[in-house]
Parts: sequence; structure tokens; C-alpha cells
Amino acid sequence: MRQDLKGQLILTIMFIVLGMLGLSLFLSHALIGRKFRDYIVEEEQRKTRNIAASLSQYYTALTRRWDTDLVHAVGMYALYDGYIIKVFDINGLPVWDAENHDMTLCYQIMAEISERMQKRYPQIDGKFISHDYGITQDGRKVGSVTIRYFGPYFLSESDFRFLDALNGSLLAAGLVSLAFAIAAGVFLARRIARPISAVIHITRQISQGNYAIRFEGRTRTQELDELVSAVNHLAGSLSEQENLRKRLTSDIAHELRTPLTTMGAHLEAMIEGVWQPTPERLQSCHEEAVRLGKLVADLERLEREESGSLKLNKTPVDLLELLRSVSANLEIDMRGKGLRCTVEGEPAGVFADRDRISQVAVNLLSNALKYTPENGHIRLSVKDSVKTAAFTVSNSGAGIPADELPFIFERFYRADKSRNRKTGGAGIGLAIVKSIVMAHGGTVNVESRPGQGSSFTVTLPK
Ligand code: ADP
Repeated sequence: MRQDLKGQLILTIMFIVLGMLGLSLFLSHALIGRKFRDYIVEEEQRKTRNIAASLSQYYTALTRRWDTDLVHAVGMYALYDGYIIKVFDINGLPVWDAENHDMTLCYQIMAEISERMQKRYPQIDGKFISHDYGITQDGRKVGSVTIRYFGPYFLSESDFRFLDALNGSLLAAGLVSLAFAIAAGVFLARRIARPISAVIHITRQISQGNYAIRFEGRTRTQELDELVSAVNHLAGSLSEQENLRKRLTSDIAHELRTPLTTMGAHLEAMIEGVWQPTPERLQSCHEEAVRLGKLVADLERLEREESGSLKLNKTPVDLLELLRSVSANLEIDMRGKGLRCTVEGEPAGVFADRDRISQVAVNLLSNALKYTPENGHIRLSVKDSVKTAAFTVSNSGAGIPADELPFIFERFYRADKSRNRKTGGAGIGLAIVKSIVMAHGGTVNVESRPGQGSSFTVTLPK
């Protein structure tokens, strides 16, 4: 049978507590019972010895007489204690006999003791037994006493009261701790089960597409807190993915629609003879087609990088040498725009995928080329340190507004859409940079001051 977590916890705790309680009750009962019996047996022996000893005081050797009044007093005292005595003198003649003195009382007391003991301790199968003890005075035997009592041992009424009180308090202590244990179990179970139920509810909601749901508050249990924050995180990243997916689709549609419409309209006009198919017009259509081809290629590359399906082909790479060759490839473009480009720093070796890191440098440098105004300056620098190596691509120019900085690494993000459409970017270059750098376990940071320019720093582990 399947039970809920709360029920299981409460049942388990109750089971453990009941077991412990039963065990401790049993042990204490058995231990105390045995010790108490030992004590009672000892007490009996002490009493019988006492009776014989005190009787010896009431014999006067000189007159050879017993003080029968005092012997009677000892006898009655012993009788009320459950000891029926018979005192004999040295010749075996009776001096005092409890049964002779008051037979009814003797039988009444014996019956009471037997009944009590049979009722409470039927297993010991006790009965009245007699023992003879010598009565001595100054080492000389002066008589004897026969003592009858319930054997092997018996408990007086006050002994029974004491035992009952002891058992009662043990039971009470047990019940109180059981109540505490149940309360603690319920409390603990609630504390654990409640957040778990909440997490179940939240994950169900997430599976139905409600990504905005979050678990609020803390649980006061470390593992549950971790579970809850993992679920919250899951909801967060699913919602991000969902947004990204939606945006990606609409962005791609948007990116493709404008050039396709323009191209379609131009071609239609030329087919219908409205426009002459001049080389310039065909050239313009061709440029759009090339741009679309580039966009699709970029998308493909980004998809490959982000899915992580391609393995990194790592080899030792010198960042300084890599930057020099990348900047040399773009030199003609830079010169065309009147840009000054400097490469500085020390050789810095990393273990990386050369082609991919080249791609990173090309993307950053092409951006610098695009966004640096004419006659501006591009600076490439390399920095080597113990565990990492870094390179920075800085350029002069308008810079990126601070509120745009957090988004520029996102796909299709363009700081200034109208300006950038002219520069030809689709907002994918930096997303590719980020994917490649992250695949290498590195980081990419951007700093920018409006009016002064921007600088992108890529740090890679060695
Ligand atoms: P794009 O293809 O539009 O250049 P990127 O992903 O490479 O896409 O860059 C995203 C946006 O970040 C750009 O549209 C641009 O607004 C901004 N950006 C990137 N690099 C620079 C830079 N060096 N100077 C100024 N703005 C930049």
C-alpha cells in the first residue's frame, strides 16, 4: 500500500518511539522487579534474625525465666508483619505461640498475604513455610523460635503500593514522551512534506507551461532549499528558453522578410518590364542574396556552437600571433576606412581550438571595424598571467550605451537597429563569440564609455 510522505514519517516516528518505550518499560520493570525481590529476600532474612535476636533479650539466665509480656509484644509485632512465631525454651517447651494466642488473627493475616501474593505473583507458587532459629545469649543456646512466613518471599501492602506507584510513574513518563514524540513527528513531517507538496505543484505547473511560477520563501531544511531553488531555477531557464525560442523565430522571420520582399519586388518589376534589368539592379539583388546567405551561414554556425555538438580541437595557440594574423587579413578594409590598428602585448599561450578562437577575434575585430568612425583607432592587446591569458579588442567611437551592454551578447540584439541594418549585422556575431568562449571555459567582458569607444576582453584558461 502506498502512503503519503507525511503519513509515513509520522508512522515511522511513532513506531520507533513505541518500540523504545516498550523496551525501556520492559527493561526497567524487569530490572527493578529483580532488584526489589533481592531486597525483599534480604529484608526477610534480616527480620527473622532480628526476631531471634530480640527474643534473646527477654530471657533471664539467672532465674531461667522468660519475660512473657515482652515475648508476647515481639510476637504480636512480628505477626502484624506477616511472621507467625512459636518460641520454645531450651527444653523444647513452648513459651509463646502466636497461633495459640490468637488463631483467628493468625489465619486472617495468613489468608490476606496468600491471597495478595497469589493474585500478583501466581508464577512463584508461594506457600507458608517454617524455619527454626536458635536463640542464643552470650554464645549459649537458651531456646529456639519457629518462624512461619510466606515463601520464597512476600510483599507487604506498603511494598505493593510502592511498586504500583513506581510502575505508574514509569507509564506516565512513557505516555508523556509518546505524546511529545507524536507532536514532534507531526511537526517534522509537516515541515518536510509541505515544501515537497509545493514543489510537486510547481513542477506540474511548469510542465503545463506556466514558467512564471516560483516557490516563495524558505523551508528551513538545507536539502529542501536546494531542491526548491533548483526547481525555481529550472522554471527560470525554461522561461528564458521559451522567450528565446519565440524571439528567435520572430527575429529570423523579420530578418528574412525585408530583403526577400525587396528582392521579390525588384525581380517582379524587371520580369514585367517595368524596370530594365540593368547590371546595377541585378547587382543589388545579388548583394541581398549574398547577405541572406551570410545570415543563414551565421545562424548555422551559431546553432553548431550553442548545441555544443562539435568537439573542440584544442592545440597550443599563441594569442599574440593569432591576433596579428587576424588583423593582417582585415588590413585592407581598415586602410580603406582610414583606421589605425595597433597590436601590442606579450606572447601568451593557451590550449584552445585555433579556428574557433580566430573566429572570436574576427568577429570582435569586424565589429570594431564596423563601429569605429573613419580615421579612428583600433587597439589589440594580449596579456599573459599564471592561469589565464587574455586579449582585448578596443576601438574608438560612439561606444555602447550602458543600458544596452547587458544585451549585446544575445542573438539578434542590435544596439541601434536602423544604424546597424546599414552596417549589415544581424546581431549574431557576439552571440557566437560568447558561445565559443564559454565552450573553452573562458569569459568575455565588455567595457564601454559613450563617446570614447568600447573594449571587449576575452579571458581563456591555460
Ligand atoms: P552585429 O552583427 O549587429 O554587429 P553583434 O552580435 O556582433 O551583431 O553585436 C551586437 C551589437 O552590439 C551590435 O549591433 C552593436 O550595436 C553592438 N556592438 C558590438 N560591438 C561593438 C563595438 N565595437 N562598438 C560599438 N557597438 C558594438
